[in-house]
Amino acid sequence: MTEQTNSSFASMGLAAPLLTAIENLGFTQPTPVQAEAIPAALQGGDWMVSSQTGSGKTAAFLLPLLNQLMAANPNGKPVPGRAEPQVLVLCPTRELAQQVSADAINLVKFSRGIRIATIMGGMPYGKQISQIKGANLVVATPGRLLDLSNSRAIRLDKVKCLIVDEADRMLDLGFQDDIEAIHELSSQRNQ
Ligand code: AMP
Repeated sequence: MTEQTNSSFASMGLAAPLLTAIENLGFTQPTPVQAEAIPAALQGGDWMVSSQTGSGKTAAFLLPLLNQLMAANPNGKPVPGRAEPQVLVLCPTRELAQQVSADAINLVKFSRGIRIATIMGGMPYGKQISQIKGANLVVATPGRLLDLSNSRAIRLDKVKCLIVDEADRMLDLGFQDDIEAIHELSSQRNQ
């Protein structure tokens, strides 16, 4: 733990609607990983963060991403209906993808202009294809995401920021080639 652990969410420069959501969720203080990772990620650049499940790691990566999406759309205009997300979160399992999406939806409860879609195996294609139109944040498992990219139902060349959640488990589950393919398809990103 560092002395930053005592800094509040407000002093991190997060947008007001995110601070309202944080308060609404009952988070009074950032957890240690949030105190370290949020200010760092808000500065930009590439980061590797190692933290246990239950430590608040999901909000640690979601809050800077959501803040960037809000900064890019300060008036909260509706997102055009294209399947071209700016933020992509990869998860090794459907369960984790659903959990991350649910956390993101809770965090944008008071924000405008952010649409979240979940892409994962085992769900009907048609429903997913209509959901990703106009989504600026997509949470996905790698295989189904590549299927949709190969069939041109989604474009990844507007992705500015890519998160690989539970990267160690991704590799254990054999997703290395898929991650490399997604890395290539989104190679123009800046974080
Ligand atoms: P995670 O490590 O992302 O799986 O988060 C574990 C749990 O901690 C989730 O239920 C979050 O809602 C909760 N949580 C995340 N950040 C905070 C915080 N700053 N204060 C209290 N609870 C939190």
